[in-house]
Amino acid sequence: MKWFQGLKGKIFFKEPLKNHTTFKIGGRAEFFAEPYDTEDLKLLLKKIKQYKMPFYILGAGSNVLVSDKGLKGVVIHLNSPCFKRLSYKGNLIEAGGAVMLRQLVATAGKFGLCGVEFLAGIPGTIGGALVMNAGIPGKNISDLVEEITVMGYNGNIKRLSKKDLRFGYRVSNLSKYIILNTRIRLVRKNKKAIQQCINEYLKKRKLTQDLAWPSLGCVFKNPKGDSAGRLIDCCGLKGKTMGQARISSKHANFVVNIKNARARDVGKLMNLARKKVRDKFGITLEPEIIRWQ
Ligand SMILES: Cc1cc2nc3c(=O)[nH]c(=O)nc-3n(C[C@H](O)[C@H](O)[C@H](O)COP(=O)(O)OP(=O)(O)OC[C@H]3O[C@@H](n4cnc5c(N)ncnc54)[C@H](O)[C@@H]3O)c2cc1C
Repeated sequence: MKWFQGLKGKIFFKEPLKNHTTFKIGGRAEFFAEPYDTEDLKLLLKKIKQYKMPFYILGAGSNVLVSDKGLKGVVIHLNSPCFKRLSYKGNLIEAGGAVMLRQLVATAGKFGLCGVEFLAGIPGTIGGALVMNAGIPGKNISDLVEEITVMGYNGNIKRLSKKDLRFGYRVSNLSKYIILNTRIRLVRKNKKAIQQCINEYLKKRKLTQDLAWPSLGCVFKNPKGDSAGRLIDCCGLKGKTMGQARISSKHANFVVNIKNARARDVGKLMNLARKKVRDKFGITLEPEIIRWQ
């Protein structure tokens, strides 16, 4: 009997993960599972435990650098409609873990709910954004969260309220759960003003970020009181290329994939940037992206 018998969702074999990351980098997943609903997800976790397989939770793949050799075990991708529900009541929005941030921003704007505009242009899901505490300087998704519904790796569903949640700079205590749903509190505002604000955020991104090539956004966290991009730029590394990975000439904290870059090349560029910045400024840059290898 195959281990996945009895599951209702989809299972793909040797799935190329480069098709599921914004970097367009990554080898194949031994198994790539898209559970049908929460019951199916629970059964999947039970089987994974029973067969002692490693597993990974994938959102939109906009913050993970996947090994060129691929991954053994199961990549869990919440892609069924069950995980993409989005509704609002009063000033509260309920969003499934697999809802894209762009959809959240657009829906909130459409209903005159203000507060999530700063997430415009971040190409992730709600689940990934909560785990990473995504945001921009001075604003993070954690500021808005009222409650999060998660599934533990044992299949139990829990509701986490504000007092259970810990958020820091691009970090949270949510990485041991699967995020199913969240409730976000917003405030009422004129729809036109909200749209203007969204447009401003998008315009700023276009001006400052390198959006011409596939990437994972910023690869390092900013050290306190400084910017990783400025430090890397000061080391003369803009445009530095290894294989087909390049430190962006526009934003030195972006590594871009100029054709068929490999994770190995990205890793080499990151090591080089860390070494040069440490040697020149005595500052050790901490990666913002997550490596799966
Ligand atoms: C062009 C560009 C610009 C960006 N700009 C920003 C920015 O301004 N600010 C910022 O903070 N980030 C930015 N990012 C990084 C990235 O988009 C965010 O970190 C995003 O929130 C990641 O979401 P994701 O769904 O892609 O997560 P993934 O990359 O798929 O996963 C990230 C982590 O979250 C976990 N995860 C994902 N979904 C779930 C779930 N449902 N349950 C449990 N765990 C889950 C994964 O296991 C992994 O540990 C940018 C990226 C790009 C490519």
